[in-house]
Amino acid sequence: MPTPTYPDLAVTVAWLEANGIDPNDVPLDSAITEGMDSEGHPVIRYTALLRRDGRPYALKGAAGPATEQREVPLITPRSEAPGPWAKQHELHVYNQTEARPGKPEADGTAWMDVRSAGMVHLLCNCGYSTGWISRRDMPSLEQLQTDHASPFRSTIG
Ligand SMILES: [Zn+2]
Repeated sequence: MPTPTYPDLAVTVAWLEANGIDPNDVPLDSAITEGMDSEGHPVIRYTALLRRDGRPYALKGAAGPATEQREVPLITPRSEAPGPWAKQHELHVYNQTEARPGKPEADGTAWMDVRSAGMVHLLCNCGYSTGWISRRDMPSLEQLQTDHASPFRSTIG
């Protein structure tokens, strides 16, 4: 069996999904081949992990997890497979505030006094998150724009 190579694993994952194969069922080091079935229809042949109660398992004395060879119709050739999913940048900067009741106005109206607590939380759709940090420790805007290029949305005030 040829040694599989995954020049771009994300592309392979998207291709498997486009053909109804759950990538979680395919061992990383296994061969995935395209071929023809006995009737001349294009197929994908791959190794699938077997699961018991949702978990891979090993047979007694086996060197690895239990697997079986599967063959499914080739629905989408690699060249036509959609691109891989990727997390987009969408940075948000949350400013922590604190508030207290203000002094009542002459007419009895009372407003809340609100101020910055000096803390920010940077959170991006790509997975970047600072947790609450002092505004002084916040990365520079230039750095943020470099790391989380447009769309760059924020509430920096
Ligand atoms: Zn980002």
